[in-house]
Amino acid sequence: MYNVKSLKADEFIDHQEILDTIEYAEANKNNYELIDQLLEKARPVKTAEGCVCSGLSHREAAVLLACDEPKYIEKMYKVAQEIKDAFYGNRIVLFAPLYLSNYCVNGCVYCPYHLKNKHIARKKLTQEEVKAEVIALQDMGHKRLAIEAGEDPVNNPIEYILECIDTIYSIHHKNGDIRRVNVNIAATTVENYRKLKEAGIGTYILFQETYNKKSYEELHPTGPKHDYAYHTEAMDRAMEGGIDDVGLGVLFGLESYKYEFTGLLMHAEHLEAVHGVGPHTISVPRVKHADDIDPDVFDNSIPDEMFTKIAACIRIAVPYTGMIISTRESEEVRRKMLQVGISQVSGASRTSVGGYTEKERPHDTEQFDVSDQRTLDEVVKWLMETGHIPSFCTACYRAGRTGDRFMSLCKTGQIINCCHPNALMTLTEYLVDYASEETKKVGYKMIEEELKKIPKENVRKTAEENIEAIKNSNRRDF
Ligand code: SAM
Repeated sequence: MYNVKSLKADEFIDHQEILDTIEYAEANKNNYELIDQLLEKARPVKTAEGCVCSGLSHREAAVLLACDEPKYIEKMYKVAQEIKDAFYGNRIVLFAPLYLSNYCVNGCVYCPYHLKNKHIARKKLTQEEVKAEVIALQDMGHKRLAIEAGEDPVNNPIEYILECIDTIYSIHHKNGDIRRVNVNIAATTVENYRKLKEAGIGTYILFQETYNKKSYEELHPTGPKHDYAYHTEAMDRAMEGGIDDVGLGVLFGLESYKYEFTGLLMHAEHLEAVHGVGPHTISVPRVKHADDIDPDVFDNSIPDEMFTKIAACIRIAVPYTGMIISTRESEEVRRKMLQVGISQVSGASRTSVGGYTEKERPHDTEQFDVSDQRTLDEVVKWLMETGHIPSFCTACYRAGRTGDRFMSLCKTGQIINCCHPNALMTLTEYLVDYASEETKKVGYKMIEEELKKIPKENVRKTAEENIEAIKNSNRRDF
């Protein structure tokens, strides 16, 4: 029985409610009066402080997703972008994944790290290797990482993950440190989440893979990840353990996208209803070719156009969340996704264990194929050329603006007052320390133009002074 506040997975992700929602959406997909009303309701409203947005319920958003009239899809894209611009402006946060270990005891049928894969090289980084990888990432200009590991209580126990986090935060190298470590590891206990919180992690990310329990159990036939309830209730345990920024996602392609979309929004509503804080981020990965994995064996692959519509509808329904697109997707897909509400992208990613210290991109320990293989410098320049400010900012996390403190600023449209100038300052750091001459040229021009757009004079002045200080290599900590 559907109950948004229940702590039981089967109740807050109620199967019947999902089926009813899909039926309701199908029945209303040509109800253009309703669709116009929903789009109007979802648009940002200006307030004295900034702006507010109502978001949409899973039922309402499902109607938008079901609509396939091109004119209305265009309207959805416009509203999605309007929302993203109102809350986050044109800044796009950059990060990179860091693979610690591909040892795994699970049997996930879409992932090459599954236990039965005997020919993939198994590797776990030593602390010296973690250090070397992190230095390679710092040398590119990264400040924000997402650490990734398979689930293996013997090879990758929580103590190993904590040791790696400690190592990462302790490396003070040349121009800058890694300032925020997000963590993408398997569902774990409240006690372990508490340890991760104490280690100073940013967001805890866990993809649901699929919200359909029956499919979930088939796709995860063996290992601890087989337990649907334990996996689905992980974010509640994380929050109980004190982690207040959690990141949701499903692996699109495994199950029907309508089912996943509704489940994902119900999960977001559940977190908001129970903890008062919705998901800090939502990722939209699609299943990709990997070592012994052929994505075509899954029946639910979605074309790029539908994928874009899904992203737009998520942005409209959950206006304040950070939305992430990884290098699983090509430059072309990422370009389109950036126009419908994406706010964070990875850059120059390697999905192999130890990949950043190799000259050539290694494939033997890789999790999946990376479509966008450009360097960070190329991605930074491309973002600017497409009208986005690449941001390496981690200030919210370091100033304690997490969980409801972040959300209260975000939901009132005030976070942009931090994001925009901080994006410009951290971009300046990047340009001074790492960028090619061409990227520098594009970047300094953009910074000059963007500074003029800061509405409050005192904020603009401070940003200008800080930028001058950075250019003169007189650093402050952002
Ligand atoms: N082991 C942890 C867990 O079970 O959640 C961490 C996950 S893994 C390192 C990160 C994510 O990669 C998975 O949650 C899954 O969604 C995604 N993934 C696995 N195989 C993939 C594939 N073939 N293509 C694209 N993404 C994949």
